[in-house]
Amino acid sequence: MTCETLDADDQGMTTTASVDLPDGQQYIDGTWSPAREGGRLELTDPATGSPLTTVARGTAADVDAAVAAARRAAPGWAATSASERGALLGRWSRLVLEDVERLAALEARDVGKPLSGGRTNVYIAAGIVEYFAGAADKLTGVTLPTRTPDFHGYTLLQPLGVCAVITPWNVPAVLTAANAAPALAAGNTVVLKPSEVAPLVVLALVELAERAGLPPGVLNLVTGLGADAGAALSGHRGVDHISFVGSTTTGRAIMRAAADNLVPVKLELGGKSPNILFADADLDTAIPAIVASITENAGQNCYAGSRLVVQESVADEVRERVVAAMRAVRVGGWDEDLDMGPLVSSLQRDRVLDFLAEVPSTGARVLTGGGAVPDRDGGWFVQPTVVDGVTADHRIVREEVFGPVLAVQTFRDDAEALALADGTDFGLLSCIWTSDVSRALRIAAQVRSGQVSVNQFADAGVIGFPFNMRKDSGFSRGGGHQAMREYTSEKGVAVRLL
Ligand code: NAD
Repeated sequence: MTCETLDADDQGMTTTASVDLPDGQQYIDGTWSPAREGGRLELTDPATGSPLTTVARGTAADVDAAVAAARRAAPGWAATSASERGALLGRWSRLVLEDVERLAALEARDVGKPLSGGRTNVYIAAGIVEYFAGAADKLTGVTLPTRTPDFHGYTLLQPLGVCAVITPWNVPAVLTAANAAPALAAGNTVVLKPSEVAPLVVLALVELAERAGLPPGVLNLVTGLGADAGAALSGHRGVDHISFVGSTTTGRAIMRAAADNLVPVKLELGGKSPNILFADADLDTAIPAIVASITENAGQNCYAGSRLVVQESVADEVRERVVAAMRAVRVGGWDEDLDMGPLVSSLQRDRVLDFLAEVPSTGARVLTGGGAVPDRDGGWFVQPTVVDGVTADHRIVREEVFGPVLAVQTFRDDAEALALADGTDFGLLSCIWTSDVSRALRIAAQVRSGQVSVNQFADAGVIGFPFNMRKDSGFSRGGGHQAMREYTSEKGVAVRLL
């Protein structure tokens, strides 16, 4: 593919970008082509605010073509042996691994995250594709017990057909892999609609899928706006399943669209995850992890540890240490590869600053940070921020800020800790920090979230962890090879032996 980049230098001239960017054409039916109505979307470098490149602005016409191509390819892909599908996915994951540096730079630059963060995400994405490459031929139905030997009963797990995958901008490579790979492995064809804010690494991943030999129409990509291409895809009659990852507000719109067409939907939405820190926790382990949980990707992760719920008896010490660690977070552009980058867009930066501007009038106080990074004009950098003295009704506690902003609440006993942890509409991840294993297990069972981690933030070290949600965070049948079941229809077959 040719590269077309707009990278402004000091004189405002356009130059070639330092990473090899795909030119942003769409991929439909095995062919790269511009949007049918000819539109382009401009992407911006979050670290400088300068134009980065343009991508095709796909519309309903492109979605129609992509869904039609996916429908045509569906029977052939479903009939391809599961082992062969797995082999193709395996080739794809190897190509991703061979191209880690380019892909990492694309994701890092587009989203604004440090290069090492982009690299980690690409390795995770490759690992997910590899996992489902191996899992493809392990998807089986069951043989059912019968009342007498004259009967035989079994189930078939069959692909649904065309799966729509609509993803956000914050971790594009991982989310593309996590949704497209199980759907493809289970024998479905896919139409991807990545976020208009950061689609570059998804273009590159699709280019590699093509090189891996996925047949035309099996994996299609339409870039475009959510309200336009996204809405056209989620409301399309030719789609048999929708995987949506994004905000709770858009998730509701997606579910309404799915209801109109009566298709299954998987929703992975926002979060307001608490780090619940008990006095008996190992603070030396907990504090750096808590700080990383809200500064990694500049706090723009669905599971970000945006609330610190800390036991009163250690709260003073913990506040002091967390504030010191937040002040030590090094902020810079993607290629500086420090601890934290800018927010993804001016819109996102302004949203976060609005939350912070409200803090004084709520009676809460900012312990550190609280605004834009002063010496970073042009980019969308926000200071790592700690807000103390918040109560459960504050917007900063209830709503997803999606920035490096940590809200601190205190509790006296286990019951109060649980009430605070559950005190938002979200239910994604709860992290419990304690040396009391009985308490950890009790709270893990009681807390209303799809995921729990104990003495670590999130699921590091566990393979096939189910990335599940509750409440307004959505619902899914997340991890492991069972994730492929989401993309199948289970057919029961009852036979009378004659
Ligand atoms: P978003 O909801 O604005 O957009 C997500 C995707 O939906 C984009 O591709 C967008 O173009 C598309 N879209 C927007 N409006 C649409 C419509 N009306 N119909 C169809 N598609 C539409 O979210 P975002 O700002 O890109 O991402 C941030 C959000 O994603 C946060 O809330 C974050 O918590 C969430 N997220 C959740 C998970 C998870 O696994 N639970 C993971 C990552 C991000």
